[in-house]
Order: sequence, then C-alpha cells, then structure tokens
Amino acid sequence: MALTKEALQSLVALQEKDSALDSIQKEIDAVPPRLAALEADLASEKRLLDAAKAKILELEKKKKSKELDVAAKEEAARKHAGQLNDLKSNEAYKVMQAEIEKEKAAVGDIETEILQIMEQIDAARIEEKAAVVEFNKTNEFSKKDREKLEAELSHAQGRHATAKAERDATAAPVPPELMRIYDHIRSRGKPDAIVPVIDGHCGSCQINISPSMAAEVAKQKALVNCDSCQRILYKPEKAASAA
Ligand SMILES: [Zn+2]
Repeated sequence: MALTKEALQSLVALQEKDSALDSIQKEIDAVPPRLAALEADLASEKRLLDAAKAKILELEKKKKSKELDVAAKEEAARKHAGQLNDLKSNEAYKVMQAEIEKEKAAVGDIETEILQIMEQIDAARIEEKAAVVEFNKTNEFSKKDREKLEAELSHAQGRHATAKAERDATAAPVPPELMRIYDHIRSRGKPDAIVPVIDGHCGSCQINISPSMAAEVAKQKALVNCDSCQRILYKPEKAASAA
C-alpha cells in the first residue's frame, strides 16, 4: 500500500502511546489476583479458627455425655443399694453387691475419662487462642494490603483513562488501512508492530534487510513488512529528522 512519511510517523507515535497504555493495563490486571491471594490467606486462617472452635464444642459434648453416664451409673448403684435389704437369699445379696461394685467401678473409670477430656479441652482452648491471634493478625495485614492495592488500582485506572484519551487522539491521523494492519500485527502477540531498521537489520527479529528493501523503507512511500516477522519497518533517522 502507498504510504506517506506523516502516516508512518503517526503510527510510530501511536505505538508509543499503546505501549504506555499496555503497561498501565498490566498493572491493572495484576491487582485482582493479588486481592484474591489475600482473600485466600484469610479464608485459610478462618478455617483453622473454625476447626479449633468445633473441636472444643465436640469435646464439651463428649464430656456432657460422660457426665450423664456417671449420673446414670450412680443412680443405678444407689437404687440397687436400697434394694439390698429386701433381698431374701444370701446368694441374691452377693449378686446385687457385685453389681453395685461394678457400677461404682464404672463411675470411677468414666470420671477418669472426663478428666482426660477436660485436659483435651484446655489444650484445644490454647489452640483456639493461638488461631484467634493468627486470624486477627492476618486480617489486619490483609486489610492494609487490600486498601493499598485498591488505591493502586484506582490510581492506575485514572492514569489509564488519561493515557487512553491521549492514545485515541494520536490514533486519529493514522490512515484506517494502515491502522488495520497495525492492529492485526498487534493482535498476533506482537505489540511492537512497527520497528526501526537498525544497521540493516529488522529492529525486532534481527534478520538482514536487503539493500533494495532498506531503500524502500528509506523512501517512506510504501508499506514495507519484515519478510521474517511481518512487522512494519521504518527508518528511524528519517522519521526523527522529519519530525
Ligand atoms: Zn523482523
């Protein structure tokens, strides 16, 4: 396609603006994953805290159930002791006494279990306290980090809006056909769509530019793409002196 010096220069200027815009966009895109990581850290501390609380509740439930067992065994022993004098035979008396002894022994065993559970509850409370401290610490840090990130984001968004307005103003004089080619190259993962020819080489892929092709580039009358990477080529000195 036919080209003018001015069109090429406007495209070089546009690429500078696009590059600035891209780097601001990168800053903006980096914020959400960092916010998500903060949330994930806090959620993980919260899960530890919830688990510590649940463990205490579970142990307290177990203790309560053992206490009911003790009360039931004590009640049975009392009831059986009251019945001893009504028994007619020596044999039945002995059987009942043995039963009462068994019930009293069971009470002793369960009380030992209750003491062990109480020790476990004490240990679990210490774990819970540590989990609360960790959670509060993480919560405080993550709140500060979140505020900082949100401020960064808002600042970057403001700069983005300004840079976008400048970019659009710079894009205005670029001929539509040239713009389509430029956009196409950029959409193929090459943000540096227009590159200078430096010492007879493509400024991006470094391939040798033939003298006839270099002469075409220097004339600035037609679009010249690098044979290897397809980027648009321009001669920087000419563009600079003309500007
Ligand atoms: Zn190239």
